[in-house]
Amino acid sequence: MPRTIIVSNRLPTKVKRVDDGLSFSPSEGGLATGLGSVYQQDDNVWVGWPGLYLDSEDEEHHVTEQLRADSMAPVFLTEDEIRDYYEGFSNETLWPTFHYFAQYAVFEPAYWQAYEAVNRKFCEAVVAQAGPDDTIWIQDYQLLLLPGMLRQVLPHATIGFFLHIPFPSYELFRAVPWRRQLLEGMLGADLIGFHTYGYMRHFLSSVERLLGCPNQNGLVESGNRTVMVDAFPMGIDYDKYAEVAASAEAQALEAEYRQALADQQVVISIDRLDYTKGIAQRLRAFELLLQRHPELHNKVTLLMLVVPSRDQVQQYKQLKEEIDELVGRINGDYRTISWSPIQYFYRSYPLEELSALYRVADVALVSPMRDGMNLVAKEFVASRLDQRGVLILSERAGAARELSDALIINPTDMAQVADAMYQALTMPLEEQQQRMASLQAIVRRYNVHAWVELFMNRLAYSKIKQKIMD
Ligand code: UDP
Repeated sequence: MPRTIIVSNRLPTKVKRVDDGLSFSPSEGGLATGLGSVYQQDDNVWVGWPGLYLDSEDEEHHVTEQLRADSMAPVFLTEDEIRDYYEGFSNETLWPTFHYFAQYAVFEPAYWQAYEAVNRKFCEAVVAQAGPDDTIWIQDYQLLLLPGMLRQVLPHATIGFFLHIPFPSYELFRAVPWRRQLLEGMLGADLIGFHTYGYMRHFLSSVERLLGCPNQNGLVESGNRTVMVDAFPMGIDYDKYAEVAASAEAQALEAEYRQALADQQVVISIDRLDYTKGIAQRLRAFELLLQRHPELHNKVTLLMLVVPSRDQVQQYKQLKEEIDELVGRINGDYRTISWSPIQYFYRSYPLEELSALYRVADVALVSPMRDGMNLVAKEFVASRLDQRGVLILSERAGAARELSDALIINPTDMAQVADAMYQALTMPLEEQQQRMASLQAIVRRYNVHAWVELFMNRLAYSKIKQKIMD
């Protein structure tokens, strides 16, 4: 029976070194939840890096056996490989370029070589698992070359690829010295998925201009194959967020926060530390709100959660310092004995606490400069059981294409963001509920399970269509 093989940089499990050996715990990320129904079924498997370096073949053997029991197969990577392929090419070349931060992009041949070599390693690991008729679904920007590599070894396999970050316009993409190889790698797939039609259009335009392959309605002629390209906006596990929001634990935490915040109106801001998220600009917009509306002093709090990420990298370190400074300055300028305009937390929170934050907020301010999708926006919507609350959302987040009943803003227009905050904080309850009800209908319907089903069905269809056209 044909199997389905999921491939991503990281496995959906956390393997950690503990006193008496290694511990294994499932990770709770959205992708892991969504694809759980796939890789845990039948004989299916998920291939990826277990997230730690191992000391010996004995240890590798032990980890392989443990993971096999949970339908996973590890690709072991060395510290050098992670430095050059992951931190290097993936996060210092592709990440800034694809998020329109071209000035941060590093074009280092050694990174590229490692990227190719590690994609090759993943190829071998998948081939060790795969039969000729299996379905392989590859995830994200760390593995852009993998579809092409697999196609050479398994010419008849059904291969899907999904990109979780934006695909940039041609002008940005063409700056990458290895642009042709990257596109050719992706075109090894039968179906290539993006979060939005915008990203898909940018990809098709690069394929046409750099490889000379035209397309018709998203069907690309590549050599003797037809590749299907389409948009599949990823959703969240709606029921999980709604259930946690209804749990006694989240409600008790919310009551605790509410008491501490007295009758303040609360604006929440939740992201990983990343220059793509527009955190500093958001702080400046909040400052502008306080300047323009003295009547809000003592009455509104920005609850800002920043999750530590990549903070050994220079740009991230600088950003952290900029945020620390801005928070200190704005609080210094506006604080009173009983009020701090910004409450800032630099750490990560478990789901229940996150849910309590989503519940306690009057407004969620999601204003990235660029964001492939942005799941925080959707999680906030799913957590608003009473349908109160307002979402302010950047037009440059993939989620803005679906969530048009949010207050949509341009994240670089400080005045517009400040106005949107004011509008949100003074919005009549009835309008809040109308907007939230329509947002919830969309987020509930296009949840992560629907996303998986749609992609898998489309992938199967792309193969049937190829056979008919042959
Ligand atoms: N998140 C978390 N702990 C925290 C804060 C956030 O697990 O303390 C989660 C959040 O629930 C969301 C994810 O991190 O699912 C962030 O996803 P998003 O698409 O918004 O941004 P990304 O970090 O993937 O760029």
